[in-house]
Amino acid sequence: MVATLIDGRALATNLRQEIAQDVEAFQKARGYVPGLAALLVGDNPASHVYVNSKRKACAQVGIRSDVHLLPATSTQAQVLEKIDALNADERIHGILIQLPLPTSIDTSTIISHIAPHKDVDALHPQNLGLLFSGRPNLVPCTPLGCLHLIQSVVPKLDGKHVVVVGRSLLVGRTTALLLSFQNATVVQAHSHTSNLAQECQRADILVTAIGKPELITADYVKPGAVVIDVGITRVTQPGGTISIKGDIAFDEVSQVAGFLTPVPGGVGPMTIAYLLKNTLTAALKS
Ligand code: NAP
Repeated sequence: MVATLIDGRALATNLRQEIAQDVEAFQKARGYVPGLAALLVGDNPASHVYVNSKRKACAQVGIRSDVHLLPATSTQAQVLEKIDALNADERIHGILIQLPLPTSIDTSTIISHIAPHKDVDALHPQNLGLLFSGRPNLVPCTPLGCLHLIQSVVPKLDGKHVVVVGRSLLVGRTTALLLSFQNATVVQAHSHTSNLAQECQRADILVTAIGKPELITADYVKPGAVVIDVGITRVTQPGGTISIKGDIAFDEVSQVAGFLTPVPGGVGPMTIAYLLKNTLTAALKS
């Protein structure tokens, strides 16, 4: 293998240690700990796994976490009512809605109902607007994690050519924005981009947030590039076992790239660490 792995688990562990110290200082100063509420609607097994790992991560750094489960049959009004209660709860500084929501519920209405100062996923239009206008308050966790991973190997992004594949609000579009704020020259690619391989080959730094397992093969990657793989797809193998795949064809891209994040163990742990950091930030501002 040519590429050096960027170890998201190790970087997240360091970040979590810093957060734990800051939480301790917060508790000494205020007499209470930051609190995160996770709202899970329905019984998507992957969502339960994610919420559980976020709950454990909170416990490790001393953040209080409450998990609120609502049945898949909940009406939109019932979900909004629950958010009203969490918005009013002084012990809760961060509210996390685990996505995806059941199709009967309008996700953007739900997210817009979270009090912006408790919106630790930072997807409320007010937080996105502040970010877009260059006055960020809370910033989405996965893009922050991507920036951290990139700057662990390329601290200064001035003049770097970056290609971000994917343009969702949750990941791709916001990651591209954060990178442009760091003075990188950013190309935002998506499913309508013609000749994606040629675009990607120009990238000093390539970020993929697509959700198509192993779409990005070695011929998309400039030799020596930094490659950040955000994709997570559960793939059922012929024997019935489930494996987790990124967007990058790891074995072949690792022969070409300079630095590469693994899946799992790359972006995922950083996303959770930044959720903790955003919860602390929200509590400090309260
Ligand atoms: P999404 O909303 O489905 O967006 C996918 C993006 O990929 C879209 O912009 C789409 O383009 C683009 N795309 C799809 N097929 C493409 C193709 N063949 N060529 C080029 N672009 C293509 O997904 P998301 O929420 O951004 O998530 C993306 C992936 O990241 C998923 O695997 C998700 O599970 C993972 N994820 C990981 C973390 C983590 O912490 N590691 C966090 C969040 C998400 P159009 O806009 O043109 O449709």
